[in-house]
This record gives sequence, C-alpha cells and structure tokens, in this order.
Amino acid sequence: MVKKLVAGNWKMHGVSSDVAEIRAIAEGSRQYPSVDVALCLPSILIHRAVEAVPGFAIGGQDVHHAEKGAHTGCTSAQMLEDSGARLTIVGHSERRDAQRESDDEVRAKAEAALGIGLDVILCCGESLDVREGGTAVETVLTQLEGSLPPALAGGAELAIAYEPIWAIGTGKIPSIAEIAEMHAAIRGKLQERFGAAGIQLRILYGGSVKASNAAEIFRIENVDGALVGGASLKAADFLPIVAAAGL
Ligand code: PEP
Repeated sequence: MVKKLVAGNWKMHGVSSDVAEIRAIAEGSRQYPSVDVALCLPSILIHRAVEAVPGFAIGGQDVHHAEKGAHTGCTSAQMLEDSGARLTIVGHSERRDAQRESDDEVRAKAEAALGIGLDVILCCGESLDVREGGTAVETVLTQLEGSLPPALAGGAELAIAYEPIWAIGTGKIPSIAEIAEMHAAIRGKLQERFGAAGIQLRILYGGSVKASNAAEIFRIENVDGALVGGASLKAADFLPIVAAAGL
C-alpha cells in the first residue's frame, strides 16, 4: 500500500507569528509516522519555517519555469530549493484562473521543479459547469495530457492533486463514486504516460477536506492522500486529517 501524503496549502496566509502553528503541526505530525505530511507556505515564510522545524517537509505553492532572468516577483526552482523547500505545488486552479496559467506552462513549471530535485504536487480539476455538463473526467484528463511532464526523471516525486474547483473552500465535495471514478481515470492516464511507474504515483484529493470527511475520502481506492487548504492553517484542524490518513 502507498504511504499517504497529507499536504497543507496555506495560500496567502502566514507571517512570522504563525511559525508557532507550523511548529505545532510539525511536532503533532510526528505521532503519525505512517503518513507523509508537508506544508506548502508563502515563499517568504519558507526559510524561517525550515529553520524552525528541521526535518519537516516545507514546500512552495508555485514556481517559475525559467532558471533565472527578468521575471519580476517570481521565484525559481533553484530559489525554492535554496530556501530549504522540498516540494512545490504547481497548477493550482487559483493560479490557472487568476494568473491564466496554461497546461503548457504548468508542465514547464513541473519540469523545472522536478529537474532541480523538488517533489511536485500537480493540480488539476474541473469547474462546476463542466461537472454539471457531464464532461468532468474528459476535461481533467485533457488537462493532465497537457500538464504532465513527458517522463519521470531523477529522484524527485510527482504527485497529482485532483481538486474540483467548485469544492475548493466551499464545504462541498463530490460523491464517493465521483471521486473514485476520477481517481481511477487519473491512474489510467498516469500508467499510459509513465508505464508501471504510474501505479506508484500518489493521487491526492483536494477540496473542502476536513476532519469530519477525511476518513471516508481516504478509504476510496486510488486516493493516496489530500491537499488541504483552509483546514491546514491550525494544528487542531489539520492533525485529525493526518490521523485519519494513518488509519
Ligand atoms: C486548496 O485550495 O488546495 C484546497 C484544497 O482548499 P480547501 O481545503 O480550503 O478547499
């Protein structure tokens, strides 16, 4: 069985006074050695967090695809790695939407991060219109077709996060059957792209995961963990989700 990964996405939350909460999450997570736990933080907080919780996986939420250059306000993979990050999210729907990131760009970001040795959580997911129109699976597979790197190289890990856009921060989640159908389809796509290695890649579910629904979600086949937004900000909300992943 694949070890589950529970990653928190702090989005644009967190200043230096929140390091105490990061410490509480890191220390609390030690009770669950059967689960991999990570926090993806605002880039400006990464170094401070890495120093505060050595050994705990801290990541970024985005990375630029270029090595360096005239890209005002952006962070390269090398910069993330240099700050002590071990992983990064790419292709979150909030960036695909607000920053108009294309599948091509997301793929280039994933390649840049993996190339420097950062683990990658690559997000995909459909809008409510698409879900209601009955083409969620095709839409997500098309997104992955364009966003996945052509090959897995080196030692860094690629994970996929299926995050239906309409479930993010809304308290709504797809049915168990819908999650199972989508994760099975994503597994098929990973095998098609990467062969046998695609069986081992973790597929996370994200969108309104909380302590009350986590155990049920983690029991679904091909759900290998979760990407958690709002409920990752406080140890009291996040650690029960980590505990559920260890059941
Ligand atoms: C997210 O934005 O990655 C997310 C899953 O958010 P939430 O858990 O708040 O729905």
